[in-house]
Amino acid sequence: MPIRPVLWVKESQPTIEGAGVHLHRAFGEPNAALDPFLLLDDFGSDDPADYVAGFPWHPHRGIETITYLLAGQVDHGDSLGNKGVIGPGDVQWMTAGGGIIHQEMPKAIAPMRGFQLWANLPAAHKMMRPRYRDVAAATIPLVEAGAGVQVRVVCGDVGGVRGPVTDIVTDPEYLDVRLAADAVFEHPLPAGKNGFAYVFEGGASFGDDGTKAERGRLVVFGDGDRARIAAGAKGARFLLVSGRPLKEPVAWGGPIVMNTREELMQAFEEYRNGTFIR
Ligand code: MN
Repeated sequence: MPIRPVLWVKESQPTIEGAGVHLHRAFGEPNAALDPFLLLDDFGSDDPADYVAGFPWHPHRGIETITYLLAGQVDHGDSLGNKGVIGPGDVQWMTAGGGIIHQEMPKAIAPMRGFQLWANLPAAHKMMRPRYRDVAAATIPLVEAGAGVQVRVVCGDVGGVRGPVTDIVTDPEYLDVRLAADAVFEHPLPAGKNGFAYVFEGGASFGDDGTKAERGRLVVFGDGDRARIAAGAKGARFLLVSGRPLKEPVAWGGPIVMNTREELMQAFEEYRNGTFIR
């Protein structure tokens, strides 16, 4: 089984989003090696002024947004009447499908740390009925996957333990991997899928040639059928995410991602005239 090489490593970039949230963006544009994923934001600050402005009411269509909180709390409400709080260790896997209007408002509690990943939906599912998976921290299994290897399985399978999020169109895997100093993790990442890691603590060597990446770096894998990560002397913690590429045209306008410019224009017209929610 060939170990996947590393295609490139990129440092996440400071960005301001929503109503003035300071965050770091690992990626935020279509790329064949990251398909079906569109965006990964890294929220992390000890100063509520960086995030309390939040993300007031805005629409989504054609994608899934996956929020994973490590620290802090985010109030959530939407056009379907759903309301709730995302807390430390919780995941909200939201399938916007044909349309949702929501707000995501971090509370003024410090620190806040977490991530939001956007996964694209295929043309045949872009207008599917909106769906939420609210995953409480306690329901996410923690797997001891070898010496010094601990994995929280949000979605996917580690050593026969399945995460609580299932039946997602792009067959994704979403893992939070913690490695002790010098620990090594090898994990199947089947041929035909795309995958990446995002390091948020410590540092590690990735892939068949041991490409090094520290905290704040995105590591994009090339072809192969498994990933190999070897922690450095400080250990490492990273997201390991994979999914099946859609290989479809992308028409992207802010929070709405469709296949054609016409579909995008239609979505914004519907948002303006109040017919966005089906
Ligand atoms: Mn949103």
